[in-house]
Amino acid sequence: MARREAPAAGPGSRALIVDVIRSAAAISRVELADLTGLTQPSISNIVRDLIADGIIHEVGSADSVRGKPRKLIAIKPANRFGIGFHLGPDTLTCVAVDLTGGVVGREVVPRPPADRLAAQFDDFTAGLDLPRGRIEGLAIVAPTPFPGGAPVADGLAPVRADLAGRIGLPVMVENDAAAAALGEFWSRRVSREQAFGCIYLGAGIGAGFVFGGALFRGASFDAGELGHMSIAYDGRPCPCGNQGCVERYASMAAVVADAAADPRLPVDPSATTSSAYDAVARLAVGGDPAAFELLDRAAGHLAVAATSMVNLLDLGRVVLTGPGAALAGSIYARRLRAHLERTAHSRQRHPVVVELSAQPRDAASIGAAALVVQAAVAPGHTPGTW
Ligand SMILES: [Zn+2]
Repeated sequence: MARREAPAAGPGSRALIVDVIRSAAAISRVELADLTGLTQPSISNIVRDLIADGIIHEVGSADSVRGKPRKLIAIKPANRFGIGFHLGPDTLTCVAVDLTGGVVGREVVPRPPADRLAAQFDDFTAGLDLPRGRIEGLAIVAPTPFPGGAPVADGLAPVRADLAGRIGLPVMVENDAAAAALGEFWSRRVSREQAFGCIYLGAGIGAGFVFGGALFRGASFDAGELGHMSIAYDGRPCPCGNQGCVERYASMAAVVADAAADPRLPVDPSATTSSAYDAVARLAVGGDPAAFELLDRAAGHLAVAATSMVNLLDLGRVVLTGPGAALAGSIYARRLRAHLERTAHSRQRHPVVVELSAQPRDAASIGAAALVVQAAVAPGHTPGTW
């Protein structure tokens, strides 16, 4: 039998090594060779370069079965930073993360006009005392526009070009749900072998997927339109042209509309969708039966769509995030878990883990900053956006 050769180190090897170190938290060179299939000399060369570049560092040693202690290496957190801006309808959320995806600064300001974004970037980073030389770039994320509209990447293209010139750093653009998925993938140390998905409960319902360490974008940067997955052939009509879209039953706007039609629930007609939704969510988690029933039904609708999404892509892990998951996330998560345990096609082969985001309201801005970090230290995953 022919001897199996270790794969030669190629352009993707550095990204692969960074990704394996990130997901392992701390790892030895021997384990890196086992996990990547690269040769020891290739590992040694790349690790030496990564240490010299300040991306990783040695963090101690572990006992070895052969007696000699193995040095452990890990991502060096507070050396380089990514900045993320999330454009909301009225606000701009600014976040800075380190190389592990840990948040080092956050600020929410009234949404400035496009020509003030560069000044906001300067104010925010100066306020955190982040040296310009250690900032890798900026990513701006926004909700996907109405179906049929220009994708976020196209809509923000002029802003992107202008900003990159003004701040002198790379600027990326992405939709909020996709960015949130990459942020959760990066900061939760999800390994690149896992088929990972994220459901984002924002103005609508979006999803993002990370396969093999790369964000999946589809043919026109429009992948993940979970909100417009139909769950009923003759269901509620949707402005997208389809019927029975899950967004018409389970989004924050749908919950608020259903609450307004329920005489048992007080809904302030002058409140914004997000504050009216939060009021219903607060009642539900506080034990109000009508509010709980309403949100639990919305979660049940989302669970049906989640099973289709999980089955289509054979996902192993799903994180629920976005402002809609901030107060009512546990109601949605419980429904999704119970439904997937009964209905996921893969349930006999592997569990489908459903988790709640640790920072659901900031997930899109954190994800934006994580996009910058990934593009800087594990490049090759972000075609067309860097
Ligand atoms: Zn629709």
